[in-house]
Amino acid sequence: MSSSNVAEFDRYKQNREVSYESDRAVVRVSDQLVIGGNKVVMMAGPCSVESEEQLRSVAQSVARSGATIIRGGIFKPRTSPYTFQGLGTEGVRILTRVKEQTGLPIISEIIDPRMIEEMAGCVDIFQVGSRNMYNYPLLKELGAISKPVLLKRGFMATIDEFIGAAEYILSGGNSQVVLCERGIRSYDSSTRFCLDLNAIPVLRARTKLPIVVDPSHGTGVADYVTPMSLAAIAAGADGLLLEVHNDPGNALSDGAQALTINDFDALTIKARRVAQAIGRSL
Ligand code: PEP
Ligand code: MN
Repeated sequence: MSSSNVAEFDRYKQNREVSYESDRAVVRVSDQLVIGGNKVVMMAGPCSVESEEQLRSVAQSVARSGATIIRGGIFKPRTSPYTFQGLGTEGVRILTRVKEQTGLPIISEIIDPRMIEEMAGCVDIFQVGSRNMYNYPLLKELGAISKPVLLKRGFMATIDEFIGAAEYILSGGNSQVVLCERGIRSYDSSTRFCLDLNAIPVLRARTKLPIVVDPSHGTGVADYVTPMSLAAIAAGADGLLLEVHNDPGNALSDGAQALTINDFDALTIKARRVAQAIGRSL
């Protein structure tokens, strides 16, 4: 560890209420559900919410297979401004209804601090996307609330920069931060990004925050999602964030990396066995 990292580590210890050396931090999503405990948490759902019926049916299906948190983007930071940008405010209504109907906690991406209040009613975890990891004004605003935040690693961010971004939220007073490795850019175009599983043990050594892995964006290819999910659990991930779609071929975003309902079910069966092999459950 470099001397600047040691200083950062010390600052972290001083800033946090709990001792850095004590047990791992857990992020409480609801009375029944924490991220960072013995149980590996499965978060699954479509990249983008496309309709109320779609989200409800995917949510019910993935929950039957073992997902305990539903994902669904309504504000999409797309590469092209001419592609589907998410349902926006209409999506807030859908997330609210599906949460009421299923009782399942929801994670959804926030891209604008002005949306915190409107989204706070329908999301249990604010997701900060890879493109916004460096959006310090957004991180500071999320540091001023008490709701859990899942912070994705910027796809060109070093681990130091990633931890620094988390510190923007933590130092504002919000200790409910989950780190998410989602792949970094490499020279190789065989996959969409390069899922950096090194990040799991490195982050475990350097922070006490729960660590989640997103193999959907990390690979960009549905066929590669299951093996990398299993590897992530074996390497110590506290949870997985997975894109699952009712009809991947017609998805409005990220269809190529979306698991089908059946794929997800098969994945959870294998994931449970890997979790058990390392003394955890699913
Ligand atoms: C997403 O989760 O759909 C997403 C846009 O992810 P990322 O920020 O990792 O690209
Ligand atoms: Mn996506």
